[in-house]
Amino acid sequence: MAEVLDVAVVGGGPTGLWLACELALAGVRVQVLERRAEPVRESRALTLHPRTLEVLALRGLEGRFLAQGRPLPTGHFAMLDTRLDFSVLDTRFPYTLFLPQAVTEALLEARARELGVDVLRGHTVEALRQDDEGVELEGTSSAGAFQVRARFVVGADGARSAVRRLAGIAFPGTDVTRTAMLGDVTLGEPPSQPAIGISSTRGGVMVVPMAPGVHRIVISDPLREHVSVREPVTLEELRESVTRIAGTDFGMKDPRWLSRFGNETRIADRYREGRVLLAGDAAHIHFPAGGQGLNVGLQDAMNLGWKLAAVVKDGAPEALLDSYMRERRPVGDALIRNTLAQTALMSATQETLALREVMSDLLRAPDLNRKLANAIGALDVGYSSLEVPAPQVDAPLLPEWSGRRLSDLDLTQDEGADIAIYAALHPGRWLMLGFGSGPLPRWEPGWPPRATLLRAHRPVGRAEFRDVGGMLVRPDGHVGWAWAA
Ligand SMILES: Cc1cc2nc3c(=O)[nH]c(=O)nc-3n(C[C@H](O)[C@H](O)[C@H](O)COP(=O)(O)OP(=O)(O)OC[C@H]3O[C@@H](n4cnc5c(N)ncnc54)[C@H](O)[C@@H]3O)c2cc1C
Repeated sequence: MAEVLDVAVVGGGPTGLWLACELALAGVRVQVLERRAEPVRESRALTLHPRTLEVLALRGLEGRFLAQGRPLPTGHFAMLDTRLDFSVLDTRFPYTLFLPQAVTEALLEARARELGVDVLRGHTVEALRQDDEGVELEGTSSAGAFQVRARFVVGADGARSAVRRLAGIAFPGTDVTRTAMLGDVTLGEPPSQPAIGISSTRGGVMVVPMAPGVHRIVISDPLREHVSVREPVTLEELRESVTRIAGTDFGMKDPRWLSRFGNETRIADRYREGRVLLAGDAAHIHFPAGGQGLNVGLQDAMNLGWKLAAVVKDGAPEALLDSYMRERRPVGDALIRNTLAQTALMSATQETLALREVMSDLLRAPDLNRKLANAIGALDVGYSSLEVPAPQVDAPLLPEWSGRRLSDLDLTQDEGADIAIYAALHPGRWLMLGFGSGPLPRWEPGWPPRATLLRAHRPVGRAEFRDVGGMLVRPDGHVGWAWAA
């Protein structure tokens, strides 16, 4: 067998590609094994949410995505009439970016290749064995059988994950009980607003722009919701449902992609089994409501990437990997909860319609709207489980800051150019940030952390920083430790 890799990532979808980028940035030898010989042309996901754009900005990549997407200042919850107002959120990216998944994947793959990642297409993993030192994978490619050995393997191989099954990780949950349809079509008579949702006892229809001349229509039709997820959708079926529910077919023609999808909902029992870890759809699946799966997958990868790199490159204890599940499983649970709630709100009964009106009314209250917008945008994710040792500092530690997500704030320096916090995190290292002129603390977590040192003034106009002397920021933009001024 050839060399032993540090990490083999199985699956070159968005989650696997971003994870590989993060690992390669830290100098980890990583290979992506992807079953498909060619990139997928159809796009399941259409949305990048605020936290995902922040994740990309933490590596200086947001411009590539913004240049090809279309920002919309709102999001939705269960297609309720009152939309979620993203424009008021505390982020540099207060919107949903409409960007087809195929484009997102192409941009991620380009970044991975720039960083020297081997993305091996046409490689299907079929067997996995692990021992104390590493993991062996076997599979088939067009050139015949292949074997790979790596110190760690990450299953980013989607809903039907072979890695999850081969590692013996259970995936409890519920089977499909309802299906819905989508069509990427040209509309001769598109709606006047950029995104619309229609709900009645006849069903629900959502229409959103996808690309120049192409709209996505999503239909939840009670008369068709028991059709098997495997049965192909025809344009006539789509037209009939849309006309019955919306009173028009919007002049639909030229279908690019027609598909049926269901509400199977599951979450992995464990995100780690020894040297095997799971991320993205391999770890959680749900009804795709609110446009979240791809986003949460990229955020899983952001959490795991630096930890895995610290273990394989810097000799951090393997226990650091357990914090991945402790931090991300609650996010997966919340994702399942909110998509189940949305599925319930999308059933076309009289009671549900009344509930929708009540919810829509409630969402007119700015605080409630903001709370849900923060949740769907994933800006409310904070962690409390990371057990890295604290820096040695004379001032009291501020535990309430640990795990908090930092917004991208501009910092002024006495010496050197002004810098935004995220720019200081572009290299993917820890950031030791001191406000004021006192000495920066010593930090010896027992493994050589890669840290950038930065001294700056407190962010202007942000009262919450008033009593903070400095902070140690994790490579994923969450606070590790903060201490008092
Ligand atoms: C209709 C629909 C609409 C959606 N809309 C949105 C949205 O708007 N926003 C959003 O965030 N999410 C959305 N999602 C969810 C989103 O598409 C997924 O969550 C996302 O693709 C998950 O990414 P992933 O990389 O984890 O898995 P995947 O994208 O499934 O990638 C897994 C990869 O692993 C490969 N693979 C599988 N098995 C093997 C093997 N044995 N060996 C090697 N390779 C293997 C596959 O070929 C694939 O490329 C939607 C989903 C659906 C169905």
